[in-house]
Amino acid sequence: MLIAGKSREINYCLLFFMYGEDTKMYDIIVIGAGPAGISAAVYGKSRGKSVLVLEKKQVGGLIGTVSTVTHYTAIVQGESGHTFAERMKEQALGAGVEIRYENVMQTKLAGEIKKVITDKGSYESKALILANGGSGRMLGIPGEDLKGVRLNAPKDGPDYKGKNVYVIGGADGAVKEALYLAQIAGKVTIVCVEDELACIQEFKDKAAVCDSIEVMPHSSLTAVYGDGAAEQLEFTDNRTGKKQIVKDAECGVFVYAGIVANTQMYTELKLEDGYIPVDHSMQTQIPGVFAAGDICVKKIRQVATAVADGAVAGIQAASEKWSS
Ligand SMILES: Cc1cc2nc3c(=O)[nH]c(=O)nc-3n(C[C@H](O)[C@H](O)[C@H](O)COP(=O)(O)OP(=O)(O)OC[C@H]3O[C@@H](n4cnc5c(N)ncnc54)[C@H](O)[C@@H]3O)c2cc1C
Repeated sequence: MLIAGKSREINYCLLFFMYGEDTKMYDIIVIGAGPAGISAAVYGKSRGKSVLVLEKKQVGGLIGTVSTVTHYTAIVQGESGHTFAERMKEQALGAGVEIRYENVMQTKLAGEIKKVITDKGSYESKALILANGGSGRMLGIPGEDLKGVRLNAPKDGPDYKGKNVYVIGGADGAVKEALYLAQIAGKVTIVCVEDELACIQEFKDKAAVCDSIEVMPHSSLTAVYGDGAAEQLEFTDNRTGKKQIVKDAECGVFVYAGIVANTQMYTELKLEDGYIPVDHSMQTQIPGVFAAGDICVKKIRQVATAVADGAVAGIQAASEKWSS
């Protein structure tokens, strides 16, 4: 619908003209229904505000796609991301939060009234909370889009019963998903750029005693070849530069190589390494615009910190006493 090559302003005017007449006004709009967004919405709603959450996929965000949720306080032991996300949704709807499944394409943050344009309509609010997290980092290698690459462990894992799988990444999320896959697959190879796994000790210890897990240190997946689906994987030893080709038409590749913040549309904000800086009230540089969760500049990206950010943002946004 957008006109290629035209400026952001022209496209914004076009979209606003298309949807402008039906624009609905809310006290608070939250972009993203991950832990940060749902927490913000529930707190905002509890203060008597009208709250709309806009979500392009499903409630739960990143954590809704993982095999098991770990370390969050009072978590049900062994709980899957899927059921955790279901409970998040139930809580939000039970609190009276409105959730619409729409992809936010543009925002206008400056001014007293904030404007949000989605693929289906346009909305306005007094306060806006940016909680649309991050997306899995692409490896940027040939063959990354072939079938059998960039799989999701709980969804696709069962298809690889007894087969070889490769987990790309050696941080917490990657190793946790590798431990899950080890219960299904024949062999799990964790390919990490570091000299050893870069995850927490708990996962290191579990991986060390798991017979079906092997670590390929200081290495990267540098290409995938195949006719429509992955058939050969090329790994490069980052120390020696030596390449090896693994031929296995039945293997699966699960990529957990970190996230990139979904901030591309927030051109009015000054970002730090792509992330949104906020103050102690989770407010951005623009009054009435807050940010919460993985999308913010922060050291620890976990459900606990996302819901804490969301709580602060939701309460502050509802207070309508933000500083300018
Ligand atoms: C493999 C893995 C395992 C993990 N395991 C754990 C764990 O066990 N325990 C733990 O505490 N943490 C874990 N984490 C971290 C945790 O998932 C994140 O810190 C948390 O999900 C961040 O929440 P968020 O709400 O900030 O963002 P997200 O969860 O990323 O949610 C953002 C939401 O915004 C939506 N969105 C994005 N763009 C738009 C748009 N344009 N319009 C509308 N909606 C949009 C997305 O669809 C998504 O639903 C894990 C992370 C990974 C990658």
